[in-house]
Amino acid sequence: MSFKDIIGQDRAWTILQNAIKNGSVAHAYLFFGPEGVGKRFTAITFAKALNCLKEKGDSCDECDSCRKIEGANHPDVVVISPEGNHIKIEQMRKLQRIVSFKAYEGRRKVVILDGVDVMTDEAANSFLKTLEEPPDETVLILMCINIHTLLPTIISRCQGIRFNLLPVESIRDILIKKRGVRIEEARLAASLCKGRLGKAIDIDIKTTLNNREEVFTILSDPLPEGVSSIFSKAEIWAKDKDSDKVDDLLDHLSNLCRDIAILKCSGNQDLITNIDMIDGLRSLSERLSFHEVQSMFQTVQNTRRSLKRNANLHLSLEVMMMRLSDEMGYL
Ligand SMILES: [Zn+2]
Repeated sequence: MSFKDIIGQDRAWTILQNAIKNGSVAHAYLFFGPEGVGKRFTAITFAKALNCLKEKGDSCDECDSCRKIEGANHPDVVVISPEGNHIKIEQMRKLQRIVSFKAYEGRRKVVILDGVDVMTDEAANSFLKTLEEPPDETVLILMCINIHTLLPTIISRCQGIRFNLLPVESIRDILIKKRGVRIEEARLAASLCKGRLGKAIDIDIKTTLNNREEVFTILSDPLPEGVSSIFSKAEIWAKDKDSDKVDDLLDHLSNLCRDIAILKCSGNQDLITNIDMIDGLRSLSERLSFHEVQSMFQTVQNTRRSLKRNANLHLSLEVMMMRLSDEMGYL
């Protein structure tokens, strides 16, 4: 993969490619931005380009150096990721040992440090020493989601490169052209992943379609057996130990409410996430007022916030479904 294969981050790869071509590569870069938008892929491509034996300012993916970096067995390219929830002091000591030696095979030693926003204080302070006295011929690539949690002294010593969420169309096209995903499924996955290609690739379409179907019944027919339907549904969902499933269900609920709101406001079908459900969504939009849809959306967001604060899952789901049924006039 060359820099041109990095989709949607043109500014990032232009900066990096120009730095190689102009001989102005910085000692330390800070890649920051949301998860799943190509930070690690760009860092690996940059490491390849810095050491490629064939291309100048890019990677060829064919030479010995590029292939070793791709296979994670190049002695001069090291990736350090959090162990458990944090990057720890022992890992920083390892990093200091690595950068104290000259490159064995490559032109540049490259250390990719993923998760600098979850460094322990001890690790961050130790790392500052490495940043203050950067070793020759070593390039440090720091990666994080949240730049605001970093020590200002770390930020000021790096060249910052922001990574943005990707447009839905770019993600859809990648899924179709590079992953062979069917058009309708690619469109749905691209809409659901909210700009993160990594998430779009990870989405299990069959499971997510089943989850969406379950969620849609909550909006279209929430009480087939009276109020007890809510309690039994909440019980089933709460018993599912897979926390990703609850996140997925809440995402579907938000997206469906959003789609109904769009149909009520503008009717612009290009903005609809669940376009394959347009008939069902339209009949809900005709039945509900904008104010009701807005309240439903708020209810889902409140549930999400409560769960983040460790509220009881079973109870939160029951309350949410009762409120939604009430807001839609079923109770
Ligand atoms: Zn190469």
